[in-house]
Amino acid sequence: MIGRYNEIRDRIVVLENEYDSNLTCVVLEEGLVFIDTGRRIDLAAKFREDMEKRFNRKTSHLLITHYHFDHYGAMSVFKDVEIVAAEAGYGDFSVALQTYLTKENREETVRAWKEEVESNNIEVAPGRLLHWEHYPKNDIFLPTKVVNHKQILGGENEKIIFQVTGGHSKCSAFVYIPSEEVIHVSDNLATDPNGNDGVFLGYSIFFYRPGVCKKTIDILEGIAELPVTTVIPGHGPVVSKDQVIRITQFLRKLDTIIRTSIEKKQTLGGLLADSRLNNFYKTRPEYWTTIIERQYNLISEEIIKK
Ligand SMILES: [Zn+2]
Repeated sequence: MIGRYNEIRDRIVVLENEYDSNLTCVVLEEGLVFIDTGRRIDLAAKFREDMEKRFNRKTSHLLITHYHFDHYGAMSVFKDVEIVAAEAGYGDFSVALQTYLTKENREETVRAWKEEVESNNIEVAPGRLLHWEHYPKNDIFLPTKVVNHKQILGGENEKIIFQVTGGHSKCSAFVYIPSEEVIHVSDNLATDPNGNDGVFLGYSIFFYRPGVCKKTIDILEGIAELPVTTVIPGHGPVVSKDQVIRITQFLRKLDTIIRTSIEKKQTLGGLLADSRLNNFYKTRPEYWTTIIERQYNLISEEIIKK
């Protein structure tokens, strides 16, 4: 599945990427617009080259959906074009580039991670190995253009809307292409590469974050209102709007059950035994306890803060 080109429209190709973010190419009259880079420089470079040949156009822009390494890690492939990202988070990213994201500090971080894994005999997931390989060596830098709320690229009949939404991170943005009825929702959605049994939970959202925040559910519910048919997630296969609606209904129901049980002072153990949660999530049953625990803790914190 690594490097599969999914041609979802005549002018939109998604490189569905395993253990990494998806890469997307949208063709405009004036040039190619790429969305996110993944971490592998070789793969991003090949994708760019293939698309330039295929559509006989040069690249004009790279859109970064948020400042997480798995989305901008291979940005050096696009150093000759306009690189667009959110204004929110830009300040933090500039500071990070001078501090924990310097090459020396990234090398040191990976060294420490490896040491920890070796001394505790922890099994390393493939996504982590990929991160360790690319995180310390890639060239990373600031985007050339920041967007406060919304940026539109392309002519009226082909326009691409980059809109900062927050949710997964404060700098998260979606990329909406109305003429194609397609939206890229960044890491506010991650779909499962290993299958879908009707109701699917984007597990990677849960595993790279403490849980799914309320804002993410609001954003996904907003998609149901938009005239789109196809949704590109930050990770995992492209899905239909119907699938996103099912995922969102599932997340909302889960959120409501957990929220009310916390308000009723039910314990985590009691919640895990709650029969209303049965059959909620079949794809990866081994993750269920962790998912509920994280969501329970996240919502508890939210309620305490109020
Ligand atoms: Zn991601």
